[in-house]
Amino acid sequence: MGLKAFLSQKVVTPHGIEAAAVLVEDGRILDVVPPHQLPTQIPMKDFGEAAILPGLVDSHVHINEPGRTEWEGFRTATRAAAAGGCTLLVDMPLNCLPATTTVATLEAKRKAANRQCHVDWMAWGGVVSDNQEHIESLAAAGVPGFKCFLIHPGIDGFTMVNETELRAALPHVARTRSPLLVHAELPGPVDEAERRLANADWTKYATYLQSRPEEAELSAIRLMLSLCSEYRFRLHIVHLAAGEALGMLHAAKSEGLPVTVETCPHYLHFASDKIPDGQTLFKCAPPIRSPENRETLWRGLREGVIDLVATDHSPCPPEMKRFAERSFRTAWGGIAGLSLALPVMWTEASRRGFTLADIARWMAEGPARLAGCDSLKGQLVKDFDADFFVFEPEAEFIAAEEHLHYRHRVSPYLGEKLRGVVKATYLRGNCVFAHGEFPGDPSGRELRL
Ligand SMILES: [Zn+2]
Repeated sequence: MGLKAFLSQKVVTPHGIEAAAVLVEDGRILDVVPPHQLPTQIPMKDFGEAAILPGLVDSHVHINEPGRTEWEGFRTATRAAAAGGCTLLVDMPLNCLPATTTVATLEAKRKAANRQCHVDWMAWGGVVSDNQEHIESLAAAGVPGFKCFLIHPGIDGFTMVNETELRAALPHVARTRSPLLVHAELPGPVDEAERRLANADWTKYATYLQSRPEEAELSAIRLMLSLCSEYRFRLHIVHLAAGEALGMLHAAKSEGLPVTVETCPHYLHFASDKIPDGQTLFKCAPPIRSPENRETLWRGLREGVIDLVATDHSPCPPEMKRFAERSFRTAWGGIAGLSLALPVMWTEASRRGFTLADIARWMAEGPARLAGCDSLKGQLVKDFDADFFVFEPEAEFIAAEEHLHYRHRVSPYLGEKLRGVVKATYLRGNCVFAHGEFPGDPSGRELRL
């Protein structure tokens, strides 16, 4: 593949947003240069006023394959990613069968992914109650880090860990120098609330919200911060929903603890006061909280206490959302976020005065750093992979099923007016999405650390 140039008035680089040309050769970024330094006589695509951003990295996705391909799969999830400007997915170790908790199960996942992927992918390993002995071999086999649950994950087959089990795992995790991603809710406050709400009306969103109190998140984060200072492993809090935790997270970061924080588009867009009763599409854990809480999370992003935004794309077959029953108790908890995460974020961020450079930091650079691939992915920089997308930030559209490219086209965002349209996505310099289509054979690869 020879030298090519991609030109725009708004190229989002670590230096800012400027007119530039991205020079691409053999799938890598040869350089990013001002337009007047563009070599003559090379093939060139000029995107004009449409912006060029680094390919997004989504570090929190449940692809569910192998084993639950009827929920989602590599082919459909990576198509949905490409359509949303995302060029690297990092798969969570649960909801697939077997869960990714040993090298053998990682190999099963690799086999399942083979030749199916439209964008690149990586796999987190799992830390469960009894796999401490597998942690270091998983890291050696190429996972960028680990995920654990402090509460039942909503599905059997991936066990939660208590403090004793964590203490058995953490020395191994620390030795790998890779992050431990933690679903931070403790069962105590949730169990207590559920007992109190046993006879409540579970078609009401308010019931579900009360059943997952902030204290579950706060006490879990308190525990993890204290273990982090004791064992000095890289701690990452996934999908923070309780804004009140930002104070202690800020303090921990100021003290120099190696902790990072993520939240999700649904916590930054929706709020509990507007969720209709019986509308189980909005069920996720931790839950979507109050409008004031949503603004606190935005402050967390502004102040840098929250490092990144990932989707927690967690789809299921529509029947598991129990639309007829309308019960927040029995419905599957999880929101499918691929494809629309970027326009949802841009709609909310632009309204609050943020720029495309902020989006790139939260949704490309930050997740790439978490997954340890920040010398190759997540920025438009010389020698990085030529992963990028073309974005019309002013264009608006009404979210419809045709915009969803994952397996089951259900979403709480349908019908919303959103801002920003992905025109095309490039993986290593090749177009993998344009005009609603996915040209070429699947060329995504696993990135192994
Ligand atoms: Zn998740």
